[in-house]
Amino acid sequence: MAGKGWTNRGSNNHNGQINLGSTMRPSSTYANQIAYVMHCPKCVCNNGANGCDIHDRLCPYHQGG
Ligand SMILES: [Zn+2]
Repeated sequence: MAGKGWTNRGSNNHNGQINLGSTMRPSSTYANQIAYVMHCPKCVCNNGANGCDIHDRLCPYHQGG
């Protein structure tokens, strides 16, 4: 389990991206990871992230993530 609760809905990382919760679906790019929805309040857009990437997820629009 993640030690810092990044997978908790509503957690926000140091890049300002907010976790909107699990999609309950496996990641398409990483084995043994669940896909999550991340929200960028700056662009007001939603993006996918792997559970292991939430803490370091960048917005694909304004942060090049
Ligand atoms: Zn953004």
